[in-house]
Amino acid sequence: MENRVIEKNGDSISPLGFGAMRLSLNGREYGESRRLLRIGINNGINFIDTAYVYSNGNNEKLIADALKDGYREKVKISTKIPAFNIKRREEMEPYLNKQLKTLGMDYIDYYFLHNVNLKIMERLSDIGVFEFLDKAKKEGKIRNAGFSYHGEIKDFKKVVDMYDWDMCLIQFNYYDDGIQMDMDCIEYAHSKKMGIFVMEPLKGGILAGDMPEKVEKEFRKVNPKKTNAEWALSWVLNHPEITCVLSGMTDIEQLRENIRIAKEVKPNSLSDEELKTIKHARNMMKKSLKINCATCGYCMPCPEGVNIPKCFDLYNEKFLFNKKDLKARTQYLTQLGGALDGNSQNAGKCSQCNKCVRLCTQHLNIPEELKKVKSEFEYPGFNIVNGIGKYVVLPVANRIFDMRNKL
Ligand code: SF4
Ligand code: SF4
Repeated sequence: MENRVIEKNGDSISPLGFGAMRLSLNGREYGESRRLLRIGINNGINFIDTAYVYSNGNNEKLIADALKDGYREKVKISTKIPAFNIKRREEMEPYLNKQLKTLGMDYIDYYFLHNVNLKIMERLSDIGVFEFLDKAKKEGKIRNAGFSYHGEIKDFKKVVDMYDWDMCLIQFNYYDDGIQMDMDCIEYAHSKKMGIFVMEPLKGGILAGDMPEKVEKEFRKVNPKKTNAEWALSWVLNHPEITCVLSGMTDIEQLRENIRIAKEVKPNSLSDEELKTIKHARNMMKKSLKINCATCGYCMPCPEGVNIPKCFDLYNEKFLFNKKDLKARTQYLTQLGGALDGNSQNAGKCSQCNKCVRLCTQHLNIPEELKKVKSEFEYPGFNIVNGIGKYVVLPVANRIFDMRNKL
């Protein structure tokens, strides 16, 4: 992998970074997550990204564990302080100290203010966040300071101008270009010599999954061997201003594929035909994707138990892949109704409390969008069918399963 250099600090960073957020911490899978991180590092990845809020600090613990045995020295670690939630200056140091302790490190290479927009930054500025960052740098607790951005495009430059940042973390993929971020903003940050890190290059996996037939056709016509993930990742990596693309890889195949792509795609290496094809694919998809959810999960947990990103995902999939009503509704019933596992997470449970709205990184009116999901999938009789599944079929199936296990 050919590393890219951040002008501001001279650090040489691999174009592919390991976004650890989606790594499993459960039971046997914990060991596999640690193994994946190490395989990534052995194959040239030198940037690992985590955050305080990922699995309530347990994700940072996983990183600490994976970086034992000499791996710490091979990578730059980035983590994030839950800035969006901080109300007072006195709350800042305890977070940083706790993170250092959890990570088992003397310093953090890249420290991001997590999930900010202009309004949050103004509040943080008023309560002394820049003094906190200066002090943390001076004390050697952090080496670089930046922000992860979920605000509007029009405010991005104002946030860049607020402090002498070393880097930023932005959402950038071919589908969201011009919605979450645009080239004007990227060039501005780049002109300040900042490192530019990218999250959601595959839009939460959507751009790597099955595409509508006409999009697949378009891609295959130009290059029959190129996967959908490759189209999406290569589009981001093609930008010379981008330092590093963070990908949330959860299995070895994804990891191998992404490493191969990051090795192959150099800045400005896509042909005009490839760029035109991606633009065309994007326009075709735009016409079909109904709710612009990045499945980032920042709105969760919902007090009523609604699985917000999954509701939107199934709704989008139905239209994007033109699924038949019966198939889409059955999928919704089994995955969100609780008919199979007794855990109802469907849109109809939303009490319109609005708690999730301010947390949405895409500024969606979540309760309103959930009404659409409900009316699409929760047909008259949904609760009866769901109840039969949950209270009759499921317990009977469990009993049969128990009996078989005892035999
Ligand atoms: S508005 Fe609905 S989905 Fe959002 S937190 Fe409240 S109950 Fe949950
Ligand atoms: S609704 Fe918003 S916050 Fe929730 S997963 Fe989707 S984009 Fe993220």
